[in-house]
Amino acid sequence: MNKPLVAVLAAAFSLCLARGADSLTMATEATFPPYEFLRGQEVVGIDVELSRAVAQKLGREFRVENMDFDSVIPAVVSGKAQLAASGITITEDRKKNVDFSIPYVKTGIVVVYRKANPYKGAAQLKGEKIGVQSGTTSENYVLEQLKQEPERFKTSAEACAAMLAGRCAFVIADVDPAKNCVKGNDDLALSDFISSEEYAIAVAKGQAELLAAVNEVIAAARADGRLAKWAADYKAESDKLKEGAPAVEKPAEKGAIAKFWDAVCDDFYLCFLKPSADGSVRGAYLVRGLGVTIEVAFSAIVLGLLVGFLVAVVRSSHDKYGYFPVLNALSKTYLTIVRGTPMVVQLLITYYIILRSVESKELIAILAFGINSGAYQAEILRAGITSIDPGQMEAGRALGLGYWQTMLRIILPQAVRNVLPALGNEFIVLMKDTSIVGYIALIDLAKGGDIIRSQTYSVYLPYLTVAAVYLVLVVTFTWLLGKLERYLRNTGADPVHNDS
Ligand code: GLN
Repeated sequence: MNKPLVAVLAAAFSLCLARGADSLTMATEATFPPYEFLRGQEVVGIDVELSRAVAQKLGREFRVENMDFDSVIPAVVSGKAQLAASGITITEDRKKNVDFSIPYVKTGIVVVYRKANPYKGAAQLKGEKIGVQSGTTSENYVLEQLKQEPERFKTSAEACAAMLAGRCAFVIADVDPAKNCVKGNDDLALSDFISSEEYAIAVAKGQAELLAAVNEVIAAARADGRLAKWAADYKAESDKLKEGAPAVEKPAEKGAIAKFWDAVCDDFYLCFLKPSADGSVRGAYLVRGLGVTIEVAFSAIVLGLLVGFLVAVVRSSHDKYGYFPVLNALSKTYLTIVRGTPMVVQLLITYYIILRSVESKELIAILAFGINSGAYQAEILRAGITSIDPGQMEAGRALGLGYWQTMLRIILPQAVRNVLPALGNEFIVLMKDTSIVGYIALIDLAKGGDIIRSQTYSVYLPYLTVAAVYLVLVVTFTWLLGKLERYLRNTGADPVHNDS
């Protein structure tokens, strides 16, 4: 059976199945060492240990979902996860939506500044570009205390990279990511706390039993010293994340070009080859990500073709002969909804609402992209079908073929050949559009590059490499389509003009 068909069947079944009541999912954003960060593909850190201990206590299977920080609390509110543990500060606003455990650490937010422009007080921040992580208390600080709009980034590391690139004057962040930002950059420094905070684990409202278990785990881990040990161990491990390439003896007389190449080589080693604690290298994010991109894009293309064929045949049969009035109305509604709403919103609705009980994010992405692309492919194919002379249908029928037989064996092959360039365009757009799957925490090629960037604070190599790989993918695909087009034009793959 082909993959999309399996995907559709599995999704249909999973809708009927009970929600996985015996698993406990922790929602987090894993660029926040030592609380949560990636060791190879695995999310590790203090919050992970605490949440795992809760799952063990309740005898439930433990899972971790890595997502953007501003999705972590919505994930527990919507039931996608049961625990939100992501260095989350207790705030009055958040308490309106979720219940918090007892705090497990006291900390605060700080200002990252350039030593050349030392930070002296909040007044200095007024009117400046201040980078923050979206959805955090740092963002609130800029909005509420400074009464201005911050520059919002998905992670503090990204805000920091923007500051290093001269796009922000300051960054405000929790002290731990801020320390990471400053590490290795001699011209940056940190202020004292500009606001003190406490981290806690959040659960959906009204989950008294779960909350009690979380509180007991935190109290026990603090009392028996596990919390302090995790903090020390993960701090030590995450401190190594940003360590650069081994220092190479560089002759003093090197010229500018040689120095530039040294810097590129160091960056290349740091971004792609430096082994992490589990022995895997960062380049593996790109290799695995490429696999996910290819899997999602090609399965969605096939699913889109199936949906597209069906809708195109229904729509054109209705337009020409008045067949299938109900299916035609349904198809029109489908086209209107899918083409009238943004892809990223469709992906999020599929993930959070329609298929919220489906575990496999690949499957969710394939379905969302396949159904979206189906609408565009349908209209392209309909244009192809309409371009075929109606006399062909009549001839087919006169020869004794049924309606569907004529459609499948005579009309469609010619229609596809005529619209192949337009279809190819749609496939290419789809392939690149899959780069938004990071929204549902799926690690594709684009997200893989983003993870490397967030761990190394290096922007050039990860992004340029990702762009180059997409380019190679699209060029290869275009070349294959060109071959198919020539094959259909030059060979007997045309059933009408083929005597055999
Ligand atoms: N403690 C901050 C907050 O809750 C940021 C946490 C994080 O970035 N993971 O808003």
